[in-house]
Amino acid sequence: MRKKIIVLGANFGGMTAALKIKHELHGDVDVTVVAASDRFLFTPSLIWLPFGKRSTDDITFVVAPTLEHHDIDFVHVAATGIDPVAHTVTTADGVARPYDYLVIATGYRNDENVVPGFAEHAHTITTLPQAQETLTAWRRFLTDPGDVVIAATQSAGCFGAAYEFLFNTAHQLKKNGLHRDVRLTYVTAEPFLGHFGIGGLPHGEQLLGMFLERQGIASRISTAIDHVEEGALVLADGEVLPYSFGMVVPPFLGQEFLSGTEGLTDEKGFVPVRPTYQSEKLDDVYAVGVAAAVQVPWTTPVPVGIPKTGFPTEAQAATAAENIAAQVRGELPTHEKPFGDIPALCVMDAGNNGVVILADKMLPPRKHGLLIPGPQSHAMKVAFERYFLWKMRNGYVQLP
Ligand SMILES: Cc1cc2nc3c(=O)[nH]c(=O)nc-3n(C[C@H](O)[C@H](O)[C@H](O)COP(=O)(O)OP(=O)(O)OC[C@H]3O[C@@H](n4cnc5c(N)ncnc54)[C@H](O)[C@@H]3O)c2cc1C
Repeated sequence: MRKKIIVLGANFGGMTAALKIKHELHGDVDVTVVAASDRFLFTPSLIWLPFGKRSTDDITFVVAPTLEHHDIDFVHVAATGIDPVAHTVTTADGVARPYDYLVIATGYRNDENVVPGFAEHAHTITTLPQAQETLTAWRRFLTDPGDVVIAATQSAGCFGAAYEFLFNTAHQLKKNGLHRDVRLTYVTAEPFLGHFGIGGLPHGEQLLGMFLERQGIASRISTAIDHVEEGALVLADGEVLPYSFGMVVPPFLGQEFLSGTEGLTDEKGFVPVRPTYQSEKLDDVYAVGVAAAVQVPWTTPVPVGIPKTGFPTEAQAATAAENIAAQVRGELPTHEKPFGDIPALCVMDAGNNGVVILADKMLPPRKHGLLIPGPQSHAMKVAFERYFLWKMRNGYVQLP
């Protein structure tokens, strides 16, 4: 009997895991991908969508043809529960789907309750529909400009996206001739500029400080937000920052249905995992990408989260796939790649400039960490977007 693998999620983690498992076992396995969305979304490009620089079609593709081409079944439906005893996943269509091994790659949802008023009043770019709403807000802003606030709340982890959107906003203000009249402010939970949720990198604070200064951006560092009102951010110290256009990055949570399986998740809905990416509790259930829990190794005056980016997500998914293939072959799952030891490789776009971020490890202690600023970063980000979408659309997950 061929083993049945179910992969939940069809983005960075899910696509990589499903294709890699099939590849590792030379096709001799049944793989089914179950996902709430039928499209792959290149989330890094959501920073450009509100400025009309990308459309939905530019940054998404339908996954079924790619998966089917690699002999992987695709079911477009949301998972609603996991029964680790019966070895089934239930889905919104009422079907219970059996598995031998399960990969959870269901990513994140926004913590909409992070501060009062976030859900009602804040715009964000962390999901496609919300980025589209932010596009509408930006267009409205251009007809009636005023001050702008870009923020990352307490416990947020996706600081790279906040910085990218901040600098892209500064670039767009300049392009629209508004940079002299509009006050642009960055509010962050980070203990210092350039912390990025990864503890910072050599000279990062000075570099980010220089980027802000050059563009006349004011900042509120190590700052918690008390609440969001219509057109204003109210900070924990009582300061009110009114804005005509704002974007707030919230913290992420794991998908709600995962918490229905006793002992599977932590209090945030993420799955605690071993370095093999097996769940701490279950040998045949794996979790990768944003769905996998990562312990924050430090405390900061205002809490910050860890950015779970695309590169480690792919590395985790590949490790999980190798281990599942080993288990299917009757071997032990011995491949290990702890999150903190995966190299950091990221490009922070700044509109027509940017910074390449390189480090030998996601989390300290590190031997090497390097920030390379310059306009080539923007070109690299654009080229990487094209390359990555091509690679995923064709299912070439063995490529870097
Ligand atoms: C604005 C923004 C910018 C970013 N920029 C960068 C960047 O420049 N570089 C970088 O490396 N990373 C970046 N990231 C981080 C990157 O997006 C994540 O690392 C990546 O999305 C993680 O992939 P994932 O597969 O774990 O989860 P996700 O991308 O969240 O995918 C989750 C998948 O699960 C599916 N799903 C959800 N719920 C269910 C359910 N109930 N049942 C079945 N399927 C479900 C979804 O449909 C989706 O297919 C950025 C993130 C954001 C928000």
